[in-house]
Amino acid sequence: MKTKVRKHVRKVGNRFVLVKKHNRKINKKTRLFSKHKGKAIISKKKRKVLDDMFNRDFELGGYLDFEKGKGLENMKIHYGSKYALEFDDDPDYETQIHSHPNIKGVSIMPSYEDIVGMQETNQKEQLIFTRGLAISIAEKDRFRHVSPKRIRQVSNMMQRDFVNGMKDRKMYEKYKSIFRRELGLSMRWHDPNKDIILETRAV
Ligand SMILES: [Zn+2]
Repeated sequence: MKTKVRKHVRKVGNRFVLVKKHNRKINKKTRLFSKHKGKAIISKKKRKVLDDMFNRDFELGGYLDFEKGKGLENMKIHYGSKYALEFDDDPDYETQIHSHPNIKGVSIMPSYEDIVGMQETNQKEQLIFTRGLAISIAEKDRFRHVSPKRIRQVSNMMQRDFVNGMKDRKMYEKYKSIFRRELGLSMRWHDPNKDIILETRAV
């Protein structure tokens, strides 16, 4: 019995203080949030739920709501079809999320519609999921004018690279500076099975 108790006590000065096991876990979580002050965060554990939910042969999408210090709090999700997804703007939610269907010929890279959507709506950040992968794009230069023709060229280039077998991660490396420089969007890759830290601030 004595050894069991000892695991839960810590010496502070010359006193022993009782430390509950789950307190340590809470502290670890708090560290994650204080390190990324006020950012919208999806913990590994919550991400797993999204990964499972979004891994379909049709699109899903909607909005994520974050709370400061707590991360992802709730979401609103709409069903789409194999190649299409439509939903209205909702100012109550901070970030938009959608999946690309897990079917042959579909890449995680933002589509033409995704990029145009960032320019035409008030949406500041979008998170894209497919096959356990996640990419986010955020607006950096709100008033930059990019012609639809150039967006079409970039998305055609991405599609060609994908069809020619370029891996998702390599595609991201190749295109992130094109997105930044030419489209005014910052793009982030979120390693599988890790926390997702977005640019959006949790309010
Ligand atoms: Zn998309």
